Amino acid sequence: MKTIGLLGGMSWESTVTYYQYLNRMARARLGGLHSAKCLTWSFDFAEIAAFQAAGDWDSAAEAMVSAARQMERGGAECLVICTNTMHKMAEEVQDAIDIRLLHIADATAPAIREAGCSRPLLLATAYTMEQDFYKGHLARNHGVSVTVPGADDRAEIHRIIYEELCQGEIWADSKQTFLDIVKKETGAGADGVIFGCTEIGLLVSQEDFEIPAFDTTALHAKAALDFALGV
Ligand code: GLU
Repeated sequence: MKTIGLLGGMSWESTVTYYQYLNRMARARLGGLHSAKCLTWSFDFAEIAAFQAAGDWDSAAEAMVSAARQMERGGAECLVICTNTMHKMAEEVQDAIDIRLLHIADATAPAIREAGCSRPLLLATAYTMEQDFYKGHLARNHGVSVTVPGADDRAEIHRIIYEELCQGEIWADSKQTFLDIVKKETGAGADGVIFGCTEIGLLVSQEDFEIPAFDTTALHAKAALDFALGV
């Protein structure tokens, strides 16, 4: 089994989920006392979020590259960036290391295509919903065109992610907000929903929706374990 490098702490609430998924899947697949071989880097998310809010993506990229290089030196045999948003720096990080970066959108797209969804709704941070790095990656590399909620809904989703989910606060009102947004967008033609932020699975799950849901955290963790086991 290869060692998986988790570039996490963005936020740690979802890094915990990655860790659980990886270890539970390793046990389910290999049995007994087996667990996933991992190295975890955990940022202080306040520092990263400050770079994001200031639009200082260069400093964010510098922090990511430095951590990725240290993970590689420490023995990681692949790298998993445990957040959708910070895939904005995926190319810079990959260029700085010799081990493979397993891109979260590459892990998610096959599930969307297999489900036959042609207009999945992307729920994520404003950076991920509004900039091209993620939507463009899905479109260019996988032929997946996503739709996003309207401006007010995007702002509210972004607020819930940073002010609640990344701080471990899970509220019924916020869950209802997500359900209402998905219902509205389903009425407008969305035929799937991408949990494009690694904390969204803490708030809602497939059971909450009639359309297929794609939880990037679960799909990314599965892709990492597949890589580690050479599947
Ligand atoms: N974990 C989140 C994501 O998947 C948001 C936090 C961040 O900006 O990294 O995008």
